[in-house]
Amino acid sequence: MTITVSNRIGGAEVPATDGATFERANPADRRQIVSIAPESSPADVTAAVDAASDAAATWRRTTPTRRAEILTAAARILAERADGIAAEMVAEEGKPIGDARMEASRTPRNLELYAGEAYRLTGATFPSDDTPIVYSVLDPVGIVGVITPWNFPLNLASRKIGPALAAGNTVVFKPSPMTPLMGERLAAAFIDAGLPEGVLNVVHGFAAGAHLVADDRVTAITFTGSTATGRKIHAAVGLGRRVQLELGGKNPIIVLADADLDAAAAVVARSSFSLTGQACTGAGRILVAEPIHDALVDKVVALAGKHVVGRGDRPGNTLGPLIDDHAVDAMRTTVDTAGSDGAEVACGGTALDDGELAHGSFYAPTVLTGVRRGTDMASREVFGPVIGFETFTELDEAIESANAVEYGLSAAICTRDIAAAQRFAAEIQAGMVRINRPTVGAAFNAPFGGIKQSGTGMHREQLGPTVMDFYTTSRTVWFGS
Ligand code: NAD
Repeated sequence: MTITVSNRIGGAEVPATDGATFERANPADRRQIVSIAPESSPADVTAAVDAASDAAATWRRTTPTRRAEILTAAARILAERADGIAAEMVAEEGKPIGDARMEASRTPRNLELYAGEAYRLTGATFPSDDTPIVYSVLDPVGIVGVITPWNFPLNLASRKIGPALAAGNTVVFKPSPMTPLMGERLAAAFIDAGLPEGVLNVVHGFAAGAHLVADDRVTAITFTGSTATGRKIHAAVGLGRRVQLELGGKNPIIVLADADLDAAAAVVARSSFSLTGQACTGAGRILVAEPIHDALVDKVVALAGKHVVGRGDRPGNTLGPLIDDHAVDAMRTTVDTAGSDGAEVACGGTALDDGELAHGSFYAPTVLTGVRRGTDMASREVFGPVIGFETFTELDEAIESANAVEYGLSAAICTRDIAAAQRFAAEIQAGMVRINRPTVGAAFNAPFGGIKQSGTGMHREQLGPTVMDFYTTSRTVWFGS
């Protein structure tokens, strides 16, 4: 069944003013059109920002209790709808049903957490020599533009919209054009929870994100997506507006010779192949100590071979499709280029299109060996199940090599040597460091994000105790007698 999704502007569900739409096909079977959504024009985006602007004064004066009630109700509604949303997520985004259920069930927890933040917008008082009291208060930043990718279409958006609303901001949300239905399902939960008209507006489309960023009334932009798009947004945001960018990665795992090999292989396989390699924190570079290279490759190849690739709605399938055929082409190019640069295919290296896979965007989990530092495979983000092994002899050399990329998102080391782990934790250039743990995974109450070209380095303001800093401004008041 194809579901038609509308923009949500000022409480109305509306098509694009010029009637333009785009279709999203099931990546496991392109013959099925899952959703049709408006391709928003600049005028549509302007109308959404108008609505957010109109609603701003009332929402910022809405009590913390009411804001928290609405977020809590939205969490409950999402939890009640989680099974249906998970099934739709599989059809629209492709991930296996177990992963979709996990995302759908975790998302309400974000909203419960941020409901409480409505009460914790505390300022401070300051001793003063010349006036009875100096104090600071937190204000909402204004209109927040939320722009998100497709790979966690509910969860990532909820952890931006939740704190934005809790702080008293109004929002214009631009979901990925790969997952408009998921954007609609999330927005509907807030609106059905009683959010007043215009507080949360949704515009869909391929160009709507750029239109949104271009509107100076959007005072804060929180974006998760590729580094290429992040660069464009960063360049477009001038003085007086704030921007939070959470971008791509080329996440390394260093495996030392003393590591528990089975455990290390499991860490590598989980980091590299879960979510079909389409996680920002997925590991694409495996730097392994020379003496254990062959044994580790064998174990990882064996684990790759255990994956059952197929439609996400078939229980037992562990690896779903890539997001679309362009992604399959990108894997082909990546493997070809790596081959020209001297790498060899230890397993995979092919698109899969037999039988039931014929109409989908499937690619085999792929292990490359002999990847050389500085080559395309060792330095560019590959958003799919293709990983490359490199070797090293000294830990310092491995850390230096791991750091010799433009990214700094997530990194892991596998070792039993505490001193080596500590050195790695201190010297690796990454926002998130894991010891004997996969590079993937997040704690919903701990900072999550990266440094260097993986973002604006403001991940203390994305998840974690200081998350509300991004969504508020501080006003200092000198109060005379
Ligand atoms: P993308 O950059 O192509 O798109 C992300 C969003 O930006 C989409 O909604 C898109 O429509 C919009 N967009 C595109 N061009 C724009 C522009 N000029 N101005 C404003 N918005 C624009 O990314 P994607 O393919 O959806 O997602 C995959 C990428 O996201 C990967 O690079 C991955 O590493 C990254 N990612 C990062 C994190 C993190 O927390 N660091 C999490 C998930 C995904």
